[in-house]
Amino acid sequence: MNFAKIIKRFRIEKAHGFRLSDFDPADTCGLDIGKAAAKDMIADGLRHLTAMQEKLYAQNQWALLIILQGMDASGKDGVIKHVMSGLNPQGCEVHAFKHPSAEDLEHDFLWRAARRLPARGRIGIFNRSYYEDVLVVRVRRELLGRQNLPAQLVTKAIWSERFNSIRAFERHLALNGTLVLKFHLRISKEEQRQRLLARLDEPSKRWKFSMDDVDDRKLWGRYMEAYEDAIRNTATAEAPWYIVPADHKWFAWLTVAAAIGGAMERLKLEFPLVRGKALEELERVRRALGAAK
Ligand code: ADP
Repeated sequence: MNFAKIIKRFRIEKAHGFRLSDFDPADTCGLDIGKAAAKDMIADGLRHLTAMQEKLYAQNQWALLIILQGMDASGKDGVIKHVMSGLNPQGCEVHAFKHPSAEDLEHDFLWRAARRLPARGRIGIFNRSYYEDVLVVRVRRELLGRQNLPAQLVTKAIWSERFNSIRAFERHLALNGTLVLKFHLRISKEEQRQRLLARLDEPSKRWKFSMDDVDDRKLWGRYMEAYEDAIRNTATAEAPWYIVPADHKWFAWLTVAAAIGGAMERLKLEFPLVRGKALEELERVRRALGAAK
């Protein structure tokens, strides 16, 4: 099955006409394979990803930044567990961005993320990111008050100014060899309700439950507006958004794995070629090692 074609449907590279409501959270593109078969497909995809990661690491030129955003219980942790588990941990780092610390709040909103960017050859995964500063901070305005900004800078234009900052930041990263891929895990309000209930019912999941999640449900519409505006204003060819239908976990995993695989393929990664004098040197070492038996 050609998943590459499917992925195209979910990739947003320009703002024009983007509407979140055009994307059905329960979409599976007509696939009805379920979790078990999806896991086999993901395993195939992971082998491919792992092979490309080795080249990324050896080549040490490109970096890959994967940003995961979504409402609570949309499956961000699950994507990290199921899609990224095959990667070599040596070349991969996950950062979860939670409530900002006092030190974070002493700096501009991109600062804490900038300190966690992946180095060349590495994959960085952001579980939430600086996008929270145009999402939760926009919806819960009291959070903006805690950011210690000079009062004259807090105007109606603040969100569009932040979008400008994000676009410039991501363009800068792209021009310096970091491939930025952004995923919005889109679940329906009803599916979230089911998952929150499951958290309450299942002792091993209870620790994940937070009253904030219930409060945020009341602001669902405003979150969706904030997501739509953020995606509309920050979807670019160099740092695309993927709107991932996430009501079916297996489909979300497949989509994310395929999107990352496709994007890495386009980098045309290769192992560095050893040539000329360096190759001659290796031949000498090989002869010496062979003779030393
Ligand atoms: P998660 O839901 O990601 O598993 P938590 O339950 O600890 O982890 O939630 C982290 C919380 O931190 C989320 O509610 C998120 O909105 C909040 N958060 C993240 N970044 C910021 C930020 N810049 N400003 C305010 N709140 C933030």
